Amino acid sequence: MQGLPGVSRVEGEASAPSHEAEYDVDLFVIGGGSGGVRAARVASGHGARVMLAEEYRLGGTCVIRGCVPKKLFVYASRFSDMFDEAADFGWRLAVPRFDWPSLVAAKDREITRLEGLYSTGQESAGVEVVRSRAVLEDAHTVRLLTDGRLVRARTILIATGSRPELPTFDGVELGITSDEIFDLKTLPRKLVIGGAGYIAMEFAGLFAALGSDVTVVCRGSNVLRGFDEDVRQAVAASYMNRGIKLMVCDSIRRLERQGRLAGGGDRPGKIDVTTEQGGRLEADQVLLAFGRAPNTASLGLDRAGVQTRADGAIIVDASSRTNVPSIYAVGDVSNRFNLTPVAIREGHAFADSVFGNKAWQVEYSNVPTAVFSTPEIGTVGLTELEGRAQYPAVDVYKARFRPLKAGVTGDCEAALLKVIVDCATNRILGIHIFADDASEMIQVLAIAVGSGATMKDFMSAMAVHPTMGEEIIAMHAPTVRYDRRDASSPLVRSAAQ
Ligand code: FAD
Ligand code: NDP
Repeated sequence: MQGLPGVSRVEGEASAPSHEAEYDVDLFVIGGGSGGVRAARVASGHGARVMLAEEYRLGGTCVIRGCVPKKLFVYASRFSDMFDEAADFGWRLAVPRFDWPSLVAAKDREITRLEGLYSTGQESAGVEVVRSRAVLEDAHTVRLLTDGRLVRARTILIATGSRPELPTFDGVELGITSDEIFDLKTLPRKLVIGGAGYIAMEFAGLFAALGSDVTVVCRGSNVLRGFDEDVRQAVAASYMNRGIKLMVCDSIRRLERQGRLAGGGDRPGKIDVTTEQGGRLEADQVLLAFGRAPNTASLGLDRAGVQTRADGAIIVDASSRTNVPSIYAVGDVSNRFNLTPVAIREGHAFADSVFGNKAWQVEYSNVPTAVFSTPEIGTVGLTELEGRAQYPAVDVYKARFRPLKAGVTGDCEAALLKVIVDCATNRILGIHIFADDASEMIQVLAIAVGSGATMKDFMSAMAVHPTMGEEIIAMHAPTVRYDRRDASSPLVRSAAQ
């Protein structure tokens, strides 16, 4: 590891530099998550002297307590269906038994391995990693809180991510967030989840499959606001079919701890959950999944003069630059699309543009996303409602089908495939899938949608048989056309009703 010269001042010694040579580093990155590590590595590759501070574990939310451990838990949960289906396909198994501590230990081993890879990746790229919280002192100075060092940087990148947003009802401290759920000592027998977004739906699905009794308390009339209506209905119906209880148009009002369990030693009692509509539930754990807030508190933004929005997000331009010319921000802290690939792309674009003499900006149209429910949701582009609002006429192609294996297993759950098309150009505006492996399908389909593919292109492609993906090739006629200029269109009819 190369040492960076001159990084040894203590508080009070920093003085305004008169020229470039007075900077200790070319780039100081605050936060070693998805966006920060990519930016640091790429900038270093362009010849910049880079220092990165991480206060917790290298890899950030995605690797340590987000995408990766979540997906490992999702994998674990899917064996439950597979054991049942195996019997239909002739396998004879002893009754399987699930062991939660073994899953947690396997997850810990894997994220520790990945964290090590991130660490060696930064080192071999020549980035100096410091294990410390870092805060801004001014537009060019960062303070390391572990030892008070002040580091002068020509450019500072804020990549501090986000943290769980907590509501304010009584007893909220009895709940846990996604940060804690990966390390519970025991599998909760009864799990109540507040919120009905990504985290709520992913954890509801996986904990139910692992054997927990799950209730989701959703303030809206359906889960996953913002997703296509047909997909929302399909996932809600599927979850209820799997025994997950949905309490809609309701929210948690209060949590209260019952007395300690008789003979339970130090084990805490259960939690009584009261809802706004007067519902009463009992839970071993209550997962609070109410969204995430940008990590900007106590970061020294005011000292450096960096502007934020009311929600705390750092305001940036299309090049991720803040109102302070030497300070940039990428990833969740700027609250654009809070997804790992977006944070990585923003970090990469920043590093190429500022240090690589290769300016480019991230393209935010057609960002694909998946919800790792079972079955999964995959989505890219406009929903049906967005398409109808933004274009004069759209065709909606819809297919509901039972996967081939359902013929043997008797599973009645229908998969859903939906394509939104601009009538004027035949261009595909959006695709929405609720099916096994929807995340894999949408990744590939997003390339076609981003390249301006038309429905005719899809129809003329050769199918791969037998697959679920071939259903999209087999969609020969729209299920419904909405045309604002045509009095017989369903849109006109429904608007008149
Ligand atoms: P982060 O990855 O959060 O990194 C920020 C880092 O900064 C952290 O390591 C933090 O410790 C550090 N830090 C903060 N403040 C300081 C400071 N002052 N000094 C030093 N270090 C500091 N996205 C997907 O695309 N797919 C998924 O499947 C997915 N699943 C998710 C599941 C869960 C449960 C959660 C919570 C999120 C998930 N996400 C997923 C979202 C994804 O994790 C984030 O969008 C992504 O991690 C954002 O990257 P980032 O670099 O902005 O921040
Ligand atoms: P989301 O924004 O997805 O969902 C938040 C949920 O909480 C919504 O149902 C929202 O309801 C509800 N809510 C918010 N405030 C209240 C309140 N005061 N009372 C009752 N309900 C409330 O956030 P998550 O926490 O699920 O996830 C955070 C982010 O992390 C996601 O937005 C996504 O960017 C990322 N993520 C991505 C994943 C992936 O890519 N697979 C997986 C997990 C997280 P309403 O809709 O009515 O506002």
